[in-house]
Amino acid sequence: MSQIKELLVDQLQDLLHAETQLAAALPAMAEAANCTNLKAAFEKHLVETQGQIRRLQQIFDQLGEPAEPKPCKAMMGLIAEGQETIEEGKEKEPMSADLALIAAAQRVEHYEISAYGTARAFARQLGEFECARLLTQTLGEEESADCKLTSLSDPLLQQLTLDDAGAMVNLESVNSDSKVSSSANPARKGKKAAA
Ligand code: FE
Ligand code: ZN
Ligand code: FE
Ligand code: FE
Repeated sequence: MSQIKELLVDQLQDLLHAETQLAAALPAMAEAANCTNLKAAFEKHLVETQGQIRRLQQIFDQLGEPAEPKPCKAMMGLIAEGQETIEEGKEKEPMSADLALIAAAQRVEHYEISAYGTARAFARQLGEFECARLLTQTLGEEESADCKLTSLSDPLLQQLTLDDAGAMVNLESVNSDSKVSSSANPARKGKKAAA
């Protein structure tokens, strides 16, 4: 086997293990999500991940190599962190818990984006363009998943900012005269209603 093919197979074996682990872990992420849109995003990515596993098997077929997974320690670590995040989230406010879940999930997506980008570069160099095409499909799904998570975190961050500001104003209004609360509160409320 050529050196580059060996490198490609190595990347694919790592990815096969990573994706299999992830497919097993995503239901718990979906279960833990408070926001229904985030839950739906995890459920959608679970279905995509199952498809990505089949796509990897297709790629192994294409290369004439057995689809043997090789333990991906990085994904095992990322998933362990995800499980930790789920546990810690039980003690958090729902929006904070969701933002932490998104943070854990985006680490996973970035790891995958990196790995698929490398695998595709190897496949192209080998002239394995059908493999490269399949890898591009998966890469697109990973990038979309990452973008979707960012779009879900934005409104949560906005809302938390307002909540934090509101909590500060409430504290100030308790601790000082009504000057602060009467001037600051209506503006905050106005923004909150518009959000
Ligand atoms: Fe994936
Ligand atoms: Zn994925
Ligand atoms: Fe890995
Ligand atoms: Fe992904």
